[in-house]
Amino acid sequence: MRVSRGMARLAAAAGGCVLAAAGALAEAPPIAIAVDASEAPRKIFHVTESIPAAAGALTLVYPKFIPGEHSAAGPITELVGLKLTKDGRPVAWKRVPTEMWSFTCEVPEGPGTLDAAFDYVAPQHAWTTASAEVAIVNWWSVLLYPQGENDNATKFAPSLRLPAGWSYGTALPVVREAGGTIVFQTTSLVMLIDSPVLAGAHLKTVDLTPGEKPGHWLHIAGDSAAAIAISPEDVAHYKRLVAEAQALFGARHYENYHFLLTLSDHIPSNGLEHHEASDNRGAERSLTDETSKKVLGTLLSHEYVHSWNGKYRRPEGLVSGVSADYQPPVDSDLLWVYEGLTEYYGDVLGGRSGLRSPELYRENLALIAATMDNQAGRSWRSLEDTAVAAQLLYDGRAEWADWRRGVDFYSESELIWLEADTIIRQKTGGRKSLDDFARAFHGAPGGGPAVKTYRFEDVVAALNAIAPYDWAGFFRVRVRDVAPRAPLGGIEGGGWKLVYTDVKPELTRASEEETKLYDFWYSLGIMVQGDGSAGGPEDGVIRDVVPGLPAAAAGLAPGMRIVAVNGRRYSDRVLLDALRAGKNDKEPLELIVENVEMFKTVRIDYHGGERYPHLERDASKPDWLSAIGKPLTPAGGKQ
Ligand SMILES: [Zn+2]
Repeated sequence: MRVSRGMARLAAAAGGCVLAAAGALAEAPPIAIAVDASEAPRKIFHVTESIPAAAGALTLVYPKFIPGEHSAAGPITELVGLKLTKDGRPVAWKRVPTEMWSFTCEVPEGPGTLDAAFDYVAPQHAWTTASAEVAIVNWWSVLLYPQGENDNATKFAPSLRLPAGWSYGTALPVVREAGGTIVFQTTSLVMLIDSPVLAGAHLKTVDLTPGEKPGHWLHIAGDSAAAIAISPEDVAHYKRLVAEAQALFGARHYENYHFLLTLSDHIPSNGLEHHEASDNRGAERSLTDETSKKVLGTLLSHEYVHSWNGKYRRPEGLVSGVSADYQPPVDSDLLWVYEGLTEYYGDVLGGRSGLRSPELYRENLALIAATMDNQAGRSWRSLEDTAVAAQLLYDGRAEWADWRRGVDFYSESELIWLEADTIIRQKTGGRKSLDDFARAFHGAPGGGPAVKTYRFEDVVAALNAIAPYDWAGFFRVRVRDVAPRAPLGGIEGGGWKLVYTDVKPELTRASEEETKLYDFWYSLGIMVQGDGSAGGPEDGVIRDVVPGLPAAAAGLAPGMRIVAVNGRRYSDRVLLDALRAGKNDKEPLELIVENVEMFKTVRIDYHGGERYPHLERDASKPDWLSAIGKPLTPAGGKQ
């Protein structure tokens, strides 16, 4: 940890540091920042800042490595119209030629602040973005600040203007609202960046723990009034999620917690964690349509678990903004803990709180296990390398993703943590579990937002304190070594087996309906794009292949388009019918394929029919998988 000016004010919390809460900082005057989001539906946000700055050379920075993004994702390309002034007179600026996120200027003598004005123009996929009815402000995309300060001590006095009539939800404490502008309490840069604001024409706030401290709220903004109509059953599930997380970890590291949920078909699905909030995004009908709800799945439980695993307990290499500023590169080699364990407990808590049925919990595990087990890229690349290279892989194309490998430190690590859980349960006869590790590692003392860093050795030591085992060797083989097969020990040790049948899993069906990406992955080894209308320009485009499986072996590749199947124009239904018929037919499957204007006929000698992964109970072993899914709270047990 870099100890610099201002750090003395940070209380030590069991080897970590407490993040300065709103209003807790004294002395230096804050940077006043006013964000005008009244034109958010035009995807433009206007920003003005008054920056206290001494005369002389000054470097202004735009946050580069954003916590939770694990990459240099600060959207600097979208900062436009930058003008600096002092006392109304222009101040020239220059971008640092070797550092695109930094600007230099010479602040003139004289009283007053350096004033910055610029616009942020929002791509739809960005963290600060909008549809016609919803806007989300993540403050790092709309601010500049002087480099060289301790970011935990840099203070901001933020205000935000919204389109007329819009409501909002945020973890940022509000001082007052006047004339359509919300004035927030002065806070540290770190906590400002940690506190997005969700706003919209249709916004509903649900109190998940009425009258309790800390409080928990779910703010839902959608593209229609119908979208935000959450059912009483779902409210009950999210209330149970809060209770189950407390039962698991035994302590919380926030003053209050705000789930922000954006429901729009014009803002891509995603999620980002914060200490006291999470920014969750799903399709417009995620709460009102059963198919979309399956696709939303356990997003909110994943992001909520991050408040403990990722924000409070954090790998040493991922402390942007805490012990240094947001500009230095990150070391993400422990993302298999940061994201992998979060993926594990996000799904486990999703099950314990009723967000996902035990059947769908197992279906999800089967899909993860089968995807990882069939993946060609695992023959050259370790799981750890997917974590180290996360900043490249988040933007990896769909084409050849199976050979490249993607951000597998999420799903494959879920299998590894499941295996760790079943080993602890087996070795202790069910008296202990990974839950005991979570309570010891992520729990007490609790209180306000804090960061406590860890290394690989700390994870191993904490596991050994629960159940002595060669945990270092366990992770070395599964994480650091190149392994030709996926780690299936957790499923098998948990009393289940990975099998393939011709029954399409519900989660696959839901995903196909929502994404129009059709799954022939475990049969032919292709994922095929459809656009809903057979014969449309995108219909039949192969997004990716599994090298070694029949389609790739026959010469198919990503980007080619399947035009016809056994002489009939392609649709996903026609290809499915051909797979079924092929089981009782000796003739090869015949495809006409277009490859950049050229057509050719490809014959695939495949007769295995449809193939999808499932878990099947192995009665010779105890059913630890079902034990893991059991709620910890009595309220949960009633359901
Ligand atoms: Zn995550």
